[in-house]
Amino acid sequence: MSQNIKADGEPISLRQLIEPLKEPLKFNWKLAVGTILCGWTKFTLPMGVPLITGHLIDHVLLQAPDDQTGTVLLQMAGLALILVTAVCITTYYRFALAHQLASSLQHHLRKRLFIHIQRLSMQFFNRHHAGSLGSRVSSDITYAGVVVERGLIQMSLDGLSMLTVGGYMLYVNPLLAVVCFTFLSMNAFLVRRFSPGIRKGRKQIQEKQSSVTGRAAEYFSAITVVKAFAGEQQSGREFTDSSNEVRELQIANSKLLGSYQSLSFSVVMACQIAIVLIGSSLILFHPGTLTRGELVGFLLFVNIINGSVQRLSDAMVQIQDGFAALERIHDILKITPSPEEPANPVNKDLTGRLRFQNVSFGYKKKQVLFDLDLEMEAGKTYALVGPSGGGKSTLTQLMLRFYDPWQGQILADDTPLSRIGKRHFRRQVAVVLQDPIIFSTSVKDNIGFAVERPTQKDIEAAAKAAQAHDFIMELPQGYNTKLGERGVSLSGGQRQRIAIARALMRNPKILILDEATSALDSVTERSIQDVIDQLQGTRTVVIIAHRLSTVKNVDEILVIEKGKLAERGTYSALAKQNGIFSRLLKEQDMSVASKVA
Ligand code: ADP
Repeated sequence: MSQNIKADGEPISLRQLIEPLKEPLKFNWKLAVGTILCGWTKFTLPMGVPLITGHLIDHVLLQAPDDQTGTVLLQMAGLALILVTAVCITTYYRFALAHQLASSLQHHLRKRLFIHIQRLSMQFFNRHHAGSLGSRVSSDITYAGVVVERGLIQMSLDGLSMLTVGGYMLYVNPLLAVVCFTFLSMNAFLVRRFSPGIRKGRKQIQEKQSSVTGRAAEYFSAITVVKAFAGEQQSGREFTDSSNEVRELQIANSKLLGSYQSLSFSVVMACQIAIVLIGSSLILFHPGTLTRGELVGFLLFVNIINGSVQRLSDAMVQIQDGFAALERIHDILKITPSPEEPANPVNKDLTGRLRFQNVSFGYKKKQVLFDLDLEMEAGKTYALVGPSGGGKSTLTQLMLRFYDPWQGQILADDTPLSRIGKRHFRRQVAVVLQDPIIFSTSVKDNIGFAVERPTQKDIEAAAKAAQAHDFIMELPQGYNTKLGERGVSLSGGQRQRIAIARALMRNPKILILDEATSALDSVTERSIQDVIDQLQGTRTVVIIAHRLSTVKNVDEILVIEKGKLAERGTYSALAKQNGIFSRLLKEQDMSVASKVA
């Protein structure tokens, strides 16, 4: 269950990191500009407080009261009231717009990531657990939103306010301003120094966390096995170990973060003390260079700037979490979908004729199919039989173009599959698996899955052809009954009929049934077999069958052994030959006889 998608380990630049945010930012640029403007106003308005305070000290408090004192105080109070009201309004918009922007960016990114992941190769899905991929499209995106809210927005606002405040400080007293900037640059140095380590740690934590999520999802989905084997202790132990690894990584990371925050806080305090000492010396030893009011005002400005620095340092974990998540998102987005979509796809209707031409294929380094050459005519029914592990399922996966062959090619009506548009091709092929997948939606949506605007009439026709209509009508809400985890549970045979109806709904030219009846009891198997028999002649049907008694009526049987086509012929012809098929037949007869005995 390896979670580390990035294999090469090369460092990623900031530009590459925020690349996924570019497009949604472009799309929401008005919102972004509005947020920055409101934020900038929200930051600059409080600058009025040091100005009012400085003015009060120098022109009111340090002067003898006269007739004008009351009026000045009232004017100051009026100004302060306007200031507070304006700050109140801009603060509301600063946060509301920032949230709106972050939510829009998250939505955009979530959509892009999900669509991209779906298009990745089956090899990718073989390597990554569904639960951990789920955590990528949910928690990684949430973390990435923080980069926008607390990172990009906050940093650009703090940058703007620092420029404004910094400019004013230079105007009031260049010496004190330079002292303040020196300390600020020490803080910037700390951020640069600590960020990479903290980000690396946060990425490791997120990867481990998604592996913990994946592990929990795996055990919960296999709860029947866990309970039946009294495996709660073992699964609990394994889960605890994974969770403990997260804890250890978090502890290591918190030490780094603690060091950063303590240093950053010390720099802020040192800055304030230095300004007080240097400012007091200027007032005492160089009269005329700085007034007392200006020093107090200056210190309040230093507080505003240090507030920005401190906010940045507090947000450091979240921002690094966000950058780590963006790195993980970048790692996935850079994987090219496969098999590749042809440059100029052929999108013509297929008849159902298939030809494997010298096809060799395997998974990773293990070769499974060897120089396979076979043809299937349109509208005929074929059974793939043979010893387990011979490559039958692999063959059907190649027919669905889940993978491309290592060598040779597969042709549909003389056109290589690699030249046909993927969506177009898959609309004409359907598959029914041994363990039917039922989505947690209504019966209607399950049958009409991936069909554009399915009509009730078509759904019912497909259900009738799959002999599912009668039992669907007996369900509490008929075709609108919810199925799956939170809905009605169906029997194995009923689930399989829904899966067949879903396949027939597409009216496929090629229908693949991969051990579709193997898990059913013999009575249910017989009735589903009737459904399959009725499909004969209407399209190309490829059946992978374990029980040989179920393939008596097919047009041709293809015996696959060790990745090669070993025999082909009708049931009766192969049964008479002294070959693999007749041997398999005898083995099954013996096993049935021993069960009866
Ligand atoms: P059959 O359907 O005849 O039982 P399969 O096509 O399922 O045979 O498997 C053929 C071989 O390929 C087996 O050795 C199996 O272990 C291997 N195999 C099947 N699927 C994968 C996969 N996703 N990754 C790696 N090896 C696989």
